[in-house]
Amino acid sequence: MNIKEHNVKSKAYLVINPKSAIPVIITATHAQPPNSDKHTGEITESIAVETGATALIAKVSRIYMDFNRLDLKDDPFKKKLKKIIEMKRKPVLILDIHGKKYGKVELGTANGTTATQDVIGSVKNTMESNGMEVTIDEKFRASHNGTIIKSFGSPNDGINAIQIEFPPELRSKDKFKYTVKVMSSVISNVLMVLKIEK
Ligand SMILES: [Zn+2]
Repeated sequence: MNIKEHNVKSKAYLVINPKSAIPVIITATHAQPPNSDKHTGEITESIAVETGATALIAKVSRIYMDFNRLDLKDDPFKKKLKKIIEMKRKPVLILDIHGKKYGKVELGTANGTTATQDVIGSVKNTMESNGMEVTIDEKFRASHNGTIIKSFGSPNDGINAIQIEFPPELRSKDKFKYTVKVMSSVISNVLMVLKIEK
C-alpha cells in the first residue's frame, strides 16, 4: 500500500461514540464536499452528541468514493459500519442521513424491505407530529445495490435501516436545531417500539 492510499483510508470516515451501548447508528455518507449533502455531517454529529448514539460520518467526497453506491468489498466506510453493527446488541437501528434539493422529508426503505413497518411508521409519525411533512419511497427509495440501507437493512435479523432525505430548509442554520431535536425524538420513540431501554 502506498502512502497516498493509506491516507485516504485513514481519513475515510469519522466515528463518534464508537463504544456506545445504545443500539442506534447514524450515518452520513455524503457529508464531505465537494458535491456534499450540505450540513448532513454536522446534523449527524449533533444527533449523536444529543442522544449518545454512534455516528459514522464520511470524510471523503462521493466524487472519489460514494459510500452509498460501492460494494462492501471496496468500501472502507461499509467495512467499519459492519464492525460497529457486530458490536451492537440487536435489534439495531441505522439511519442514513442525506440532503435532497426540495420537497418533503423522504424516508427511503427500498420499498419497505429494510425496516419493519412498525419502525418506519414510528419514524414517520414522530416527524409528522413535530411538524415535518414526510413521504416514503417516492423518489429516493435507495433500492439499488450498494446503498447503506440495502447493504445492511434486514429486519428479520434485527437490523432496521432507513435512509432519510432532508430538504435544504431543514438543514439550514435556522432549522438545524429543530431537526436535531426531532431526530432525537425519533430515536427515543423507535427504541420504545423496539422495546429497548435506553
Ligand atoms: Zn446523499
